[in-house]
Amino acid sequence: MTVTAGVVAVQGDVAEHADAIQRAAASHGEDADVLEVRKSGVVPDCDILLLPGGESTAISRLLAREGIDEEIRAHVDAGKPVLATCAGLIVASTDANDERVETLDLVDVTVDRNAFGRQVDSFEAPLDVDGLDEPFPSVFIRAPTIADVGPDAEVLASWDGRPVAVRDGPVVGTSFHPELTSDSRIHDLAFFRTERAPV
Ligand code: GLN
Repeated sequence: MTVTAGVVAVQGDVAEHADAIQRAAASHGEDADVLEVRKSGVVPDCDILLLPGGESTAISRLLAREGIDEEIRAHVDAGKPVLATCAGLIVASTDANDERVETLDLVDVTVDRNAFGRQVDSFEAPLDVDGLDEPFPSVFIRAPTIADVGPDAEVLASWDGRPVAVRDGPVVGTSFHPELTSDSRIHDLAFFRTERAPV
């Protein structure tokens, strides 16, 4: 089976995410066609969707300007999976704690942008994630923390006592960058071990 994957290509790590999706698909004997999402009209064709990191203010502005925001909401309403990483999680949250970010209200959490510090404070940590047998090598880059978890969200991993991976229905959000290692288990967890609604 071939899965159509959309990667929001406003900023950041599109090729790395495409690679990770393809590796995760292959491990289930599936193929993935990866489409870059820069304009409206692409998301409705996608089975799965990736919202990468970057700068959350810029990403949210572009999604709203291009009308992609409504398409992403419809994708989730239809029960289709999304993986939102770092700035992508900020955009997907219900509250970014920053009025410059127009959130998509997909993940019932309040985030704190840059709460782990500035660029110099980027770090890698082995993270125990619910659903994974071995720790996941997690790269944090000017990462947000999840300050508050609402009743609809479930914490999948915490670092230093703070939640850094969550699930809300078909949406998985991580404050770290799972595309920056050769380990595709987070993409696998979000996309291939979540029931996918038929297109
Ligand atoms: N600091 C960025 C923001 O707040 C997120 C960083 C990232 O995606 N690596 O939007």
